[in-house]
Amino acid sequence: MTALYDVKNLSVDLTLPQGLVGMLLPGSKPKLNLLKAISLTLNQSETFGLVGESGSGKTTLARAMLGLLPISGGQLAFEGQPLTSSRSFTPLRRRAAMMFQDATASLSPRMTVGALLAEPFHIHRQPLPDPNAMAASLLARVGLPAAIAGRFPHELSGGQARRVGVARALALNPALVIADEPTAGLDVSVQGEVLNLMTALKADLGLSLMIITHNLAMVRHVSDRIAILYLGRLMETGPTRAVFARPAHPYTQSLIASEPQPDPRKRRTGPAISGEIPSVLNRPAGCAFHSRCPRAAALCRHTTPELRDLGQGRAAACHFAELT
Ligand code: SF4
Repeated sequence: MTALYDVKNLSVDLTLPQGLVGMLLPGSKPKLNLLKAISLTLNQSETFGLVGESGSGKTTLARAMLGLLPISGGQLAFEGQPLTSSRSFTPLRRRAAMMFQDATASLSPRMTVGALLAEPFHIHRQPLPDPNAMAASLLARVGLPAAIAGRFPHELSGGQARRVGVARALALNPALVIADEPTAGLDVSVQGEVLNLMTALKADLGLSLMIITHNLAMVRHVSDRIAILYLGRLMETGPTRAVFARPAHPYTQSLIASEPQPDPRKRRTGPAISGEIPSVLNRPAGCAFHSRCPRAAALCRHTTPELRDLGQGRAAACHFAELT
């Protein structure tokens, strides 16, 4: 496997005005850790699933990787090139595309589909000799007729808008597409179509796909490797099949145990996830997951577990994680 994107010890902080913090949390520091010491590698031509509940930091991580948010620490490298300044992100922005969660809202309502597909060429100052032919070719690639190029976003169905989002992401022949909840808001049958389309395109074009989602069934189905985030920290990472077969981290175990099972006899015996993810404004000390962890011990309340290599391409941030 060849690394496409290397993330090492990435941290993203949000500094709040002292006055606001003083009002919200008297005595607290004016800095919030949105992401802390995240390390992961995206390989070429693989599908990587980034999983976590709402508020876990998934979208923040994607935005930081694309240079859309300033980082507070760590190193990023894309195709072997360190990303050390805003200028160094310029080639990455041509080679990596983001699909945002709300397909229709992410498309400017005043532009036709044809104009939306041409926009990445203008933004990145790439030659576009025949915009109509380009639009027709991109639309054909995602299974839409060329006539769609003349429509506005509000004239598209949810599935068509998502396909246009895929076409737009592919416009500059990216090496990486980051898709934020690519099936959110779609009917189940359309969800399957969109996922199958993305998987087929990924195989045809040899690109890497990072799928951000809280939908475990989806990542289990489409991803080669996964990483599980909780309150801005990486809890577990490894090959998808192995993680689902033997989850090492109590959070992963609880998420998997919470999945709806069509056959109740196959339901896992582990405890399902309970309670709500805490706010980053009120991050628990020690292990971030301890307030919801069924295995929490005294050590977990004051000592933060590091992400530990467990062998077999797996790692987990739990004092007691092991591969059984
Ligand atoms: Fe649970 Fe402790 Fe492991 Fe955290 S370190 S996941 S609280 S057992």
